Amino acid sequence: MTDTDRVVVVGAGVAGLAAAHALVPDHDVVVLDRGTVGGGATSRASGMISLALEPLPPAVRDHAWSFFHDFDGTGVFDFFEQPTVRLVPAGDGGHAEATAAESEAVRFHTPEDLHELHPGTFDDLSGYDGALEYLDHTGFLDPEDYGATLRHEADVAGARIYRDRTVTGLRIEDDEVTGVETDLGPVDADYVVVATGWRTREFLADHVELPVRPMRWNALVVDPGREVPPTEPMGSDPERRVYWRPTRHGDLLVGGNEHLVDDPESATMRVDESFVDLVQSDLADVLAGADGEIRRTDCCPGADTASPDGLPIVDAPAETPDGLVVATGFHGRGVMLSPVTGAAVRAHVADEDPGFALDRFALDRFTHRSPDFDYVSHWD
Ligand SMILES: Cc1cc2nc3c(=O)[nH]c(=O)nc-3n(C[C@H](O)[C@H](O)[C@H](O)COP(=O)(O)OP(=O)(O)OC[C@H]3O[C@@H](n4cnc5c(N)ncnc54)[C@H](O)[C@@H]3O)c2cc1C
Repeated sequence: MTDTDRVVVVGAGVAGLAAAHALVPDHDVVVLDRGTVGGGATSRASGMISLALEPLPPAVRDHAWSFFHDFDGTGVFDFFEQPTVRLVPAGDGGHAEATAAESEAVRFHTPEDLHELHPGTFDDLSGYDGALEYLDHTGFLDPEDYGATLRHEADVAGARIYRDRTVTGLRIEDDEVTGVETDLGPVDADYVVVATGWRTREFLADHVELPVRPMRWNALVVDPGREVPPTEPMGSDPERRVYWRPTRHGDLLVGGNEHLVDDPESATMRVDESFVDLVQSDLADVLAGADGEIRRTDCCPGADTASPDGLPIVDAPAETPDGLVVATGFHGRGVMLSPVTGAAVRAHVADEDPGFALDRFALDRFTHRSPDFDYVSHWD
């Protein structure tokens, strides 16, 4: 690497912006997006940073957590540390209590405890043995503010970030990346980072087979018609496959019910009606105010990208031309993992140690590369 190496980042979602932000201190960074900056899956993410509940190695979780803390207060970005309660279905209480006994950062609460600790938050908890409360490594952010701040910081440090610029292919010589082709002509590069979300499998089909496929999430914002105190925890219900968090305006953001889709482009931008019913009829039995007035249902542009094990692929695969780095398959975790994405991309470009093992994100962990894999649920 030299100080003047140019990196073209294809895709200005949270993955591409995090990569640009991580690389810009000592690279010439150009970001190209076919649409608007942060206009893909990133634009409607719920901002849940539920790192404690994810299947992540501690070093990965800690890296992301430290980044959000350090970045808090930069530009318009605020990070809100907030515990998360995960409801424990009836019959699973014993297992949950054992989980809590293993960690000081996790507590088990009975339904009675929950009503006492968070008065007014829950309604009928008779179908549950209680909840696990995760006290550390959970919080939330506003994805728009976060993306805008990553973009601004990268921009100020010299990155050039362009919208409405479609990259149509890679330029390759002697099995080395030399740039990209775009609808407005070629752009030279020493490295190309492909962070094109659910389009990545097709975009790189001539170079590598990636086991990823589009997945859709639902999310809506509801006015619960009750006060949501600042201490109200974030939450999730694995039975209904939903999560929720307070918003800064005193509303509740409820998301979940993710599933695979074949054709993201034809999918509606609005939340599925069945999800609205789930929240307003079913979840409302448990979470007070979930049947309140709906404030926002424009949840779902395009799609996120599922991977067979629920973790992303951030790698410079051996079979691809030198200089190519791929970042996709975020499986509903792209915002909370974005600091890790930035560090992993930088590790591949600058040949640096990111401080965590990269093998959890390597393509060669998958023997089968077909997109016909079953969905790995967030809720098991
Ligand atoms: C409703 C919902 C709720 C979510 N909640 C959370 C959450 O709480 N926490 C969390 O961590 N994650 C959450 N996610 C997931 C998260 O949003 C995604 O994992 C993340 O945004 C993926 O980022 P990305 O950069 O890979 O993709 P995208 O944001 O989709 O960005 C890809 C970009 O590539 C561009 N592109 C594609 N092809 C080309 C091309 N040929 N040339 C140029 N540009 C191209 C696209 O225009 C797009 O802007 C949620 C997602 C949804 C939909």
